[in-house]
Amino acid sequence: MPQEEKTTMVHEDRYDAQRIEAKWFERWQQDASLYAAEPNSTKPKYYCLEMLPYPSGALHMGHVRNYAIGDALARYMWMNGYNVLHPMGWDSFGLPAENAAISNNTPPREWTLRNIANMKAQMKRIGFAYDWSREVTTCLPEYYRWNQWFFLKLYEKGLAYRKNSRVNWCTKCATVLANEQVVNGCCWRHEDTLVEQRELEQWFLRITHYTEELLRDLDKLEDWPEKVRTMQRNWIGRSEGTLVDFKLDGAADSPDSTITVFTTRVDTIYGATSVQLAPQHPLVTRLAKNNDPLRAQVEQLIAEQRKAKEVGDIGAIEKHGVNTHHFAVNPFSGERIPIWVANYILIDYGTGAIMSVPAHDERDYEFAKKYNLKMRIVIVPRSVDPEETSVEPKLPFTTLDGTLVNSGPFNTLDCEEAIKQMSAHAQKNNFGKATVTYRLKDWGISRQRYWGTPIPMLYCEKDGIVPVPEKDLPVILPENVDITLTGGSPLGRVPEFVNATCPKCGGPARRETDTMDTFVDSSWYFYRYTDAHNDRAPFDSKTAAYWFPIDQYIGGVEHAILHLIYSRFWTKFMRDMGLVKNDEPIVRLFTQGMIIKGGAKMSKSLGNVVSPDEMVARYGADSTRMYTLFATSPDRELDWQDEGVEGIRRTLSRVYRFVVRNAQPNHPDWRKPVPAELSREARKIQRKLHQTIKRVSDDFQGRWHFNTSIAAIMELVNDLYAAGAAFQPSAFDPGVFQTESEASLLPVALLSAVQRDLVLLVAPFAPHLAHELWEMLGEKTNLLRAPWPKYDPALAKEEEIEIPVQVNGKLRGLIVVPADSSEAVIREHALSNEKIKAAMAGKQLVKVIVVPGKLANIVVR
Ligand SMILES: [Zn+2]
Ligand SMILES: [Zn+2]
Repeated sequence: MPQEEKTTMVHEDRYDAQRIEAKWFERWQQDASLYAAEPNSTKPKYYCLEMLPYPSGALHMGHVRNYAIGDALARYMWMNGYNVLHPMGWDSFGLPAENAAISNNTPPREWTLRNIANMKAQMKRIGFAYDWSREVTTCLPEYYRWNQWFFLKLYEKGLAYRKNSRVNWCTKCATVLANEQVVNGCCWRHEDTLVEQRELEQWFLRITHYTEELLRDLDKLEDWPEKVRTMQRNWIGRSEGTLVDFKLDGAADSPDSTITVFTTRVDTIYGATSVQLAPQHPLVTRLAKNNDPLRAQVEQLIAEQRKAKEVGDIGAIEKHGVNTHHFAVNPFSGERIPIWVANYILIDYGTGAIMSVPAHDERDYEFAKKYNLKMRIVIVPRSVDPEETSVEPKLPFTTLDGTLVNSGPFNTLDCEEAIKQMSAHAQKNNFGKATVTYRLKDWGISRQRYWGTPIPMLYCEKDGIVPVPEKDLPVILPENVDITLTGGSPLGRVPEFVNATCPKCGGPARRETDTMDTFVDSSWYFYRYTDAHNDRAPFDSKTAAYWFPIDQYIGGVEHAILHLIYSRFWTKFMRDMGLVKNDEPIVRLFTQGMIIKGGAKMSKSLGNVVSPDEMVARYGADSTRMYTLFATSPDRELDWQDEGVEGIRRTLSRVYRFVVRNAQPNHPDWRKPVPAELSREARKIQRKLHQTIKRVSDDFQGRWHFNTSIAAIMELVNDLYAAGAAFQPSAFDPGVFQTESEASLLPVALLSAVQRDLVLLVAPFAPHLAHELWEMLGEKTNLLRAPWPKYDPALAKEEEIEIPVQVNGKLRGLIVVPADSSEAVIREHALSNEKIKAAMAGKQLVKVIVVPGKLANIVVR
């Protein structure tokens, strides 16, 4: 072939991702119904959902990974004949918009909508297959009016109520701070100002009405990651135990001087050597009132606790405590024991007070060692004679498998029996009782912020709290609110908003100025997707019943608790309202791993952020998204390597060239069935194809190890090139089959089947390229709805051959091995064959001679 022609061909052969992706972007833009779910479809439904993003301004690589997983799955399900719902939206209320408004002087709405436009354009550029006709934007009144409607329904049912609660307060801002605005215990804008805790009336949703059900139904969620179920179980935190009242020594008998502790091990109460209180416990506040040193120490403990909460791991806090030098009386023994305040006791867990039993509790033991507190053994291993107190268990001895000692009338009881009797004893004597407690508390949804859903409530001097009538919804969030000012809730400074008329008496009323926690928005948004433009109801029940529950939900594990528990609560409430039929919103949950670079989480401060835009510009969208699936299995942490994206680009380039060079849609044999009789080499390619279809299909249906799926596709491509090179030595280019010649390696029908299936297999991962090649193969149908290739197990099966095995030159048996078995494999099979072993009995092995594919000869003496 002359040099000139070669140059031309190379040019045409080049995989130009930008050109191909621009072409398909345009085509897809013009077809609004492309990714739309079908109304009144008889196909089985599949609801595939990725968590909706917060519109921060630009997609980050973690988003791309999340959406690439969901997109591959949605495309796979379309190709498998499902009616797929695959929507996207924006979790667009929240604090960052207000912060941006303060620093850039841009109104939150403008900032948010601009960010949404940017991110939507990015998603379209990457080619995610979303049904944009169902887009949900939570900061728009057509959505948040239904938050308000739900709030009224919750209020009607007694599931929304007001109570006093603590908030973070900055004295300089003179306003409430969100937890995220508290940095190292100080205000984010006033780094020298310690944040105070103040009591404020706030709105709560009674999620605890569903505690037992939320816990019990976790057992149904078999297709959720076990770690997520465990996290939710711990969050709900059911524990059976006993409440016991200790009295403040020397104080008059009053509720004020009672310390109620919660313990799961009342059987160890004779071993209690101190009482430990949370720093916010009311008794601590009272004891510290006229005791400046104590108050300072307690404030220090509170600061430490807040810091540990910010880091997110209160369990790992370095334990500190302060002795109040007051005493409490153990109601069982009458013993006086010291009262401590400790930073690891949480006021909102149990009663905010515990009894400390160092001999029989890990944490108490650690604390007692540190502060040199007394220890007393009251449980000994059951096998030990209780009279023989000289045999002491190794401390702390925490098992329930023991017997009581040093416990007055309860000595010799087993632990479990003691718990029953001692709980009953406490109840009979009016100083305690058996109880079940939960860690889960009601959901405080009041935020003293601007950028959120206004809570639809009014305060009338005559009528008190009056709900806004349903017909007056939505209560519109006013625009042009100056949120840069300090001093109270921003809405409180807008008289047109605050001043209203009481719907009951017609007199003046004040509007609630708190807005809702943004977790309200995300608790039910996925129902709205099923009927996104309904202006009479949040959604149509029948339509929701068709789509729900969600078949697959995909998102970050950071949402394992709050978002998912609130969503489960909301579904149960809607079911009780008769709005939905399902008990749970989500059948299957997948949490993808994080993306890191150079061993660290991507962050601006580390300068290791990889921008999706840059990757798409350099390598193309297909390579970028496919790399996020290929680098490791999707549940694992992914350490970003640009070279890895380049590697994927090269692979896609090989797929592209292979099809460009071998597509012959006008050949008369192109659409003929693959002949039953094939040459050995053609059969090898066919086998590899069916094995690849099997592996990719299995991965989609199983553990989603797309990295192995893509590796399998790469192997198939390599085999195709190798076949082209090995059997067409005269051809200019390896990988090109001279199919019309006599020396044809592959029948055209097989070559065409391989290419079509290869393109179908690539389609969920690299949709632009797949669509381009599909067209090149002469296909007129929509690739998105083209049937997923089927594999034939018989064709996928490895070819096997029989090999004769000789011992000292005499035929002694036959072994069956895969056709391409190595010497080592044949040797191993031969030596473990029963007949051969019998023939070798009592003799010594000298050597094994293997002629691969033909013969094995074993020499013995
Ligand atoms: Zn401040
Ligand atoms: Zn009134």
